[in-house]
Amino acid sequence: MRVLRFATTNPHKVREVRGLLDSVPVQVETLAHVPAAAEPEETAATFEGNARIKALHYASRHPGEYVVSEDSGLEVDALGGAPGVQSARFLGPDATYAARFDEILRRLRDVPEAGRTARFVCALAVAKDGALLFETRGVVEGRIAYAPAGDGGFGYDPIFFSPALGCTLAEAGDVKATVSHRAQAVAALLHWVRDLK
Ligand code: IMP
Repeated sequence: MRVLRFATTNPHKVREVRGLLDSVPVQVETLAHVPAAAEPEETAATFEGNARIKALHYASRHPGEYVVSEDSGLEVDALGGAPGVQSARFLGPDATYAARFDEILRRLRDVPEAGRTARFVCALAVAKDGALLFETRGVVEGRIAYAPAGDGGFGYDPIFFSPALGCTLAEAGDVKATVSHRAQAVAALLHWVRDLK
């Protein structure tokens, strides 16, 4: 069985990805506990750039292994694409999501429904040794709700309303894992893995 090392310590991402890769003969290993000092700085201005930095960085620490990395976040059109690559650090790394929701909803206070468009983006990269072998991007479109709703998922899910599902991603239960930006990126990864010789 082929081993893919998924370069994240985020348990929510691991759970979503493991479920999606159930159907292929790959074993998903995650990073064992990584001291903060060993994490690369996500200095790129794009999701793709940060996914590449992480994939190449962790591949150099796991020679001979396929290392999968992803960088994801929320783009709000009325905020010029913010929080974007800063999603995990919006208002500071220790800010609560409740505070982040409040701030986004405050900034969108006078924005009508048609202007509240937003998307989750997931850039995924695979590296082995020094080489970048595969890249893809998954996107799910939606809009910023008027108030948080639901307690499933993680991160910005409670304020992300999916018109396709008729609810926020935090209210979508396991369906989230089939429609999300991460699901789409992982579906493309699946095709790539199946064709690997
Ligand atoms: P990363 O771990 O540097 O890629 O940061 C991703 C950040 O984007 C997370 O910490 C969340 O704030 C946000 N994010 C990414 N994917 C999701 C999702 O599926 N739901 C809600 N928030 C997400």
